[in-house]
Amino acid sequence: MTMIDLIYPKHCPVCLNALPPGKTLICAPCRKKLRLVREPVCFKCGQPLLSAEREYCTPCEKNLPAFESNTAWAEYGSFYIRRMLSEVKYHGNRQLLDYPCLDFGLKMKARVESWQAEALIPVPVHESRKKERGYNQAEEIAQRLGKIFGIPVDAGCLERSAETHQQKNLGRRERAVNLMSAFSWQGTPKKYRTVILIDDIYTTGATLNACTAVLQSAGIDKIYALCLSIGRRQ
Ligand SMILES: [Zn+2]
Ligand SMILES: [Zn+2]
Repeated sequence: MTMIDLIYPKHCPVCLNALPPGKTLICAPCRKKLRLVREPVCFKCGQPLLSAEREYCTPCEKNLPAFESNTAWAEYGSFYIRRMLSEVKYHGNRQLLDYPCLDFGLKMKARVESWQAEALIPVPVHESRKKERGYNQAEEIAQRLGKIFGIPVDAGCLERSAETHQQKNLGRRERAVNLMSAFSWQGTPKKYRTVILIDDIYTTGATLNACTAVLQSAGIDKIYALCLSIGRRQ
């Protein structure tokens, strides 16, 4: 137990209560309340599937994303996961990410090693939003995972250069182009061969697809993704 633990106790990511000082990052009963992603999952986007007979979910079958694969830790449909992520995003409680990232990181370590990625790239937020919140939640996740994997985090090579315009009235293709124009590569060309994109939530995959397209145009061959949570689209 350190003084720091006494002055700033860690909080459980599920019930949000202060934890006893020491190494615990989650209450034992709360661990069972997490709805973690389980097999079978879509080979491409990592969302849970109802049937193990299928390789891909319907959205991926229709439009196969260009990234190698995405893997997600927990279901965004879970109340606790949504509340935890909104606490991180809007209330500055970054420490709530400690347990999710540790658990996700340890589970993924062997697979990530086989990918031989050279960098973790957090999905960027616009600079003004980062200023407002003080940090980018995807970068916070990347830092924690990077320590477990032993892979450096490169948060400067991909930039969200524009606020995304209203997407509502646009078709699917126009939306994709619009979103892609929001990201830009700031690194040298062919800086990496293989990277892993990191984000907090995977919903439609549009953001990861846009980032993938930008990374590919910067000469990166293989792009994997890890998202802390994922919604179900089937
Ligand atoms: Zn708890
Ligand atoms: Zn899918």
